[in-house]
Amino acid sequence: MDEGERSYLDAGAQRDDAIDPRTSFRESAAVSDPTVYERFTETWPDAWRRAAACLEWDRDPQTVLGGEPPAYEWFPDGRLNAAVNCVDRHVETRPNQLAVRWVGRRGEQRSYTYADLSRAVNAAAAGLRELGVDAGDVVTLYLPMIPELPVAMLACARLGAVHNVVFAGLSAEALAARLDAADSTVLITCDGYYRRGDAFNQKSRADTARVRSEVDLAATVVVDRLGDALEVSLGPDEVDYGALCASHEGTTVDPVTRRATDRLFVMYTSGTTGQPTGVEHTTGGYLSHVAWTTRTVLDVRPTDTYFCAADIGWVTGHSYGVYGPLAVGTTVLMDEGFSDTPDRIAERIDRHDVTVFYTSPTTIRSLVKRGAAALEEYDCSSIRLLGTVGESITPETWHWYRDHVGDGETPVVDTWWQTETGAILLATLPGVTPMKPGAVGPPLPGIDALVVDEDGDPVDPGEPGVLTLTAPWPGMCRGRHAGDDRTRTGDDRTRETDWVETDDGWRYRTGDRAVVDEDGYVRILGRVDDVLKASGTRFSVGTLEAAIVGVDGVVEAAAVTDDRGAIVAYVVTRSDGRPRADHREAIAAAVETDVVAAAVPDQIVFTTDLPKTRSGKVMRRLLADVARDEALGDVSALRNPEIVGEIASAVREDASTPE
Ligand code: AMP
Repeated sequence: MDEGERSYLDAGAQRDDAIDPRTSFRESAAVSDPTVYERFTETWPDAWRRAAACLEWDRDPQTVLGGEPPAYEWFPDGRLNAAVNCVDRHVETRPNQLAVRWVGRRGEQRSYTYADLSRAVNAAAAGLRELGVDAGDVVTLYLPMIPELPVAMLACARLGAVHNVVFAGLSAEALAARLDAADSTVLITCDGYYRRGDAFNQKSRADTARVRSEVDLAATVVVDRLGDALEVSLGPDEVDYGALCASHEGTTVDPVTRRATDRLFVMYTSGTTGQPTGVEHTTGGYLSHVAWTTRTVLDVRPTDTYFCAADIGWVTGHSYGVYGPLAVGTTVLMDEGFSDTPDRIAERIDRHDVTVFYTSPTTIRSLVKRGAAALEEYDCSSIRLLGTVGESITPETWHWYRDHVGDGETPVVDTWWQTETGAILLATLPGVTPMKPGAVGPPLPGIDALVVDEDGDPVDPGEPGVLTLTAPWPGMCRGRHAGDDRTRTGDDRTRETDWVETDDGWRYRTGDRAVVDEDGYVRILGRVDDVLKASGTRFSVGTLEAAIVGVDGVVEAAAVTDDRGAIVAYVVTRSDGRPRADHREAIAAAVETDVVAAAVPDQIVFTTDLPKTRSGKVMRRLLADVARDEALGDVSALRNPEIVGEIASAVREDASTPE
């Protein structure tokens, strides 16, 4: 354990006071019976039937868990359609309830009742069917936060097609790689969207991707987001989304029944190799797990106005921005401009009477930075539950969130999960489990977690190790693939990486370092591998560093995050640490183009060398300590110990330089 980890743990240990759920919340919570944990343990895996019971099935599953470990199959003989579960069944009971309230970057508003959503989804499904989309085909969606994105996802689901959403901020190269890897049939994109006030041409980026991609698309569908603000012309194999849907207005498309184990979507995420990995999620297991956790952890109910601040381009937006809340049948607020002004949360809560709000610590930190006074003119009293996800939250930030966005007693759920896990696995149940700020909580009922050392042996409470899961869960991905290298969970490659067999059975390796306390609460310490998380976006350190090194005049780069999650890049330039005047901008531009805007370093420190071991390995841990202003310990084993002092003073100087 390094110094940084130790001081973090000590700080946590001092604040381990558990906070009980408030009584008024407990009384109306979706789960308020503390025996739920034992009941899951006693009847596992059957206990997971209650998640399946959140859905409407075409054929009820008789078997809960099948498959050959670790290629587990959840509810394998069940059949269902995801769009029926997220739309049709609510239309039957509450057609006029608001399903999606959308606010555009220019303040435009569009509202969809469940009946409106059904009409939009059916028309889009009919349009896609006309273009030849069939069950099992992959449709790639490269769209910003506009209603057409969830509508297209649900249209795919209605047809039994698999959607592959690519975050709209990703580059043409990234889109091309994902079009190819997923073997896409159709691409849906848009003319453009507003980005920091300007009309950004998304279509030209999609055009570049199509030239680079090797797949033979049946069609490209283009949503007209910007109207007159951006003129784009459509080629012969390009179709206007509005016209396509209008030609099928009023059509009803019969939902295609799917096996529970059939793919609902694929989502690409960064792995350690830098190559995007396609994570495949199932129709039955995934949807059951997200519906159940939306109800029990986020406590969302149909009468809520629920706001998940994550972009739908990432897994949080899929699970808790679209599928979970719509499966529960609530009203979802969708805000296109959120990423430009995350510090204006209170305005949104006030204006839309948001009752449940789910966001990342990055957003909360931007609020903290703006100060409590900026929230005062807004009324956030509608809030009844707050959630956080994506990175560790410090106890200070947790309390700030609860005190200033909540009323000081609002339940706050810190939820841990991953793209691969599909849905929340570690969190408190807000009506049952006491909260410990800074710890994500114990595993949910039905989930078994174990922190182990490098040999796979369990560590004692209080000792850090690697977080593993010792039992499968319904939302688990059914397979992963990188390019043509397609594997199911349980195939050799996935076995080597995600699941390992031990004398005590199969274990899923999360890739996170964690520590568990005497009460079973887990505190996440960060990633084991070279993966960085910033602004809720995961990318590999290698990809980020490669983008920086690709800038003319840069010879070496190493990236780390500081204690607030900000990215610090240490960069060696050819002119011996003396950067060119435009180097900072060039690096930012390269990262934005090659990786993603969220990966642009918050701080760039130019140096003459990087600290290296005698075998030439860059000591990123040490660089992280410098960024975090931590004690550095013994550096004598380095090949170039003198560089550490130089870097530390460069960081201090840089921090004191006014912008
Ligand atoms: P992604 O799959 O991109 O959503 O990233 C998953 C990773 O985010 C996890 O492996 C953790 O490293 C981190 N993470 C997610 N939720 C939390 C949380 N509540 N606390 C700390 N880290 C988290």
